[in-house]
Amino acid sequence: LSERTAGFTDSVIRRMTRVSMQYDAVNLSQGFPDFEPPKELLDRLAQVAYEDYHQYSITWGSQNFREALAAKQTYFMGRRIDPNTEIVTTCGSTEAMMAAMMTVTNPGDKVIIFSPFYENYGADTILSGAEPIYVPLVPPDFHFDANVLEDAFRQHPKAIILCNPSNPCGKVFTREELETIAALAEKYDTYVITDEVYEHIVFAPNKHTYFATLPGMWERTLSCSSLSKTYSVTGWRLGYIIAPPEIIDRAKKVHDFLTVGAAAPLQEAVVTGLKFGQDYYDDLQAKYTHKKDLFLKGLDDLKIAHTDPQGAYYVLLDIAEFGYESDLAFCEDLAHYVGVGAVPGSSFFREPVNNLIRLHFAKKDETLLDALNRLEGLR
Ligand code: GLN
Repeated sequence: LSERTAGFTDSVIRRMTRVSMQYDAVNLSQGFPDFEPPKELLDRLAQVAYEDYHQYSITWGSQNFREALAAKQTYFMGRRIDPNTEIVTTCGSTEAMMAAMMTVTNPGDKVIIFSPFYENYGADTILSGAEPIYVPLVPPDFHFDANVLEDAFRQHPKAIILCNPSNPCGKVFTREELETIAALAEKYDTYVITDEVYEHIVFAPNKHTYFATLPGMWERTLSCSSLSKTYSVTGWRLGYIIAPPEIIDRAKKVHDFLTVGAAAPLQEAVVTGLKFGQDYYDDLQAKYTHKKDLFLKGLDDLKIAHTDPQGAYYVLLDIAEFGYESDLAFCEDLAHYVGVGAVPGSSFFREPVNNLIRLHFAKKDETLLDALNRLEGLR
């Protein structure tokens, strides 16, 4: 078997979903909603079954999907996105990130990754033969040291991966921080691969800035995102890369050979969501703000120390007081004896960290309250 994949373990996030099922725990590990997608999408999906969308769509995404996505992103990014030359539709942002890596890197190239990071990035570098350079985001506010970042840039990386809003730490990069990254990307001529799947889950007064919209950054940015979180359809596996035509031209080919294309009926059904007005996004934000407040208040009542996310739907809990040497063992016991599924923090950090676990709050209020009730078992 291949040497490059010999070091792979199972995804810890997906494994913790299986552990949760085994113990019938409330699964707050792998981040996906237990509430329904918008009804309009479901109604449209039912119709689409009887329309002519059962064969391959155009490999880089159906015309309807790309046009609707281009209109939506033009509105939010404040920059005209061309549906024909600046978008490639992928099977989730998971494929978008992998295709983006393979589009810009050669084996042996270095890629900067902020730590903590979403675990796929490590695997993406291995699969594409690139070498990660990790730069810490320093708790409690997860800031980065610009000098440490420039040291990483001095190694002439081909790309930097920027997850904003960030999974798992909930950081929303300020415009100033993004400008620091932009200046370095320009100075060292580095591509920027963003993962912006939580672009619409940002808590006031924080604001999401699309990296590609910073002055001079459009040319070097591959903006990856997904429909999963915005429309609560993680199982539909729909994502995309937005970038300038020269980059997209190559990314289309990489994507074509990786997967041929995303599911045609699902691309068509989600167009309904892509055409929603501003109200939908305001409601989504309000809904997640409510869930965050509900869940964090519950954790406060239990006197469990935790992060205060600015965006995305994750919270890191400090479990040091429970005296476990291994966060994985803690999570196994938490699922087994308390009945709550969590992800060990160590799977997100490059640095040795064993006192954090990640929970997510993309769940019905009743599910969150059930989890909080169960967490009382820790007291
Ligand atoms: N992004 C989500 C998480 O971090 C789910 C990722 C996945 O399993 N594809 O939990």
